[in-house]
Amino acid sequence: METLKEILAEYNLPARARSCYQCGACTGGCPVGRIRWDFNPRRFIEMLIRGELEDLLLLESIWLCSHCLTCLERCPQQIEVSEIIMHVKNCAARLGNVPENVIKMADLIMNQGWIDKPVKRMLKKRQGLGLPEQPEGIDSEERKALCRCLDWSAKMKAFKTGKSGGADGRFPVSNNKKGVRERAS
Ligand code: SF4
Ligand code: SF4
Repeated sequence: METLKEILAEYNLPARARSCYQCGACTGGCPVGRIRWDFNPRRFIEMLIRGELEDLLLLESIWLCSHCLTCLERCPQQIEVSEIIMHVKNCAARLGNVPENVIKMADLIMNQGWIDKPVKRMLKKRQGLGLPEQPEGIDSEERKALCRCLDWSAKMKAFKTGKSGGADGRFPVSNNKKGVRERAS
């Protein structure tokens, strides 16, 4: 079973954040930070630098990042905050710590190609713009092949029945918050 140390070594996270001088420009421009007080990219980077890795992986707020890249545009040190957060999410997922709502959204995308079908008003707007009722690719063979490749149904079944482990190195399968600490040794 993978340990937290091994996973972090693969992503080299603390080293990527080292040149941050905590100016806060990333947080100042972050659209998520404007509506959620507990979403603070500067603080996430600080936690990495200070070695508070386990605590960072347990934060549900990291899952709110929309990866819009505004932080990268604003950072005077060109630190790839968005990419770092993506890797933090990957680490958390590999250790089995993924919020239930994130897994539900992923399940919808894997099964139907999107989270929510467009409402009537949106359909009308699409029609007015000469667009098809749904974007190309929603029903694509690629999506179905991806589901098969990831053995998605089995993973979801394991998640729903609570029989998933989470440290298979490849996919979010559990929202067990104790997971990180248990596997951190
Ligand atoms: S903008 Fe860059 S240097 Fe400033 S706090 Fe954010 S990551 Fe650090
Ligand atoms: S990529 Fe994430 S952290 Fe950066 S500005 Fe966008 S939402 Fe905020």
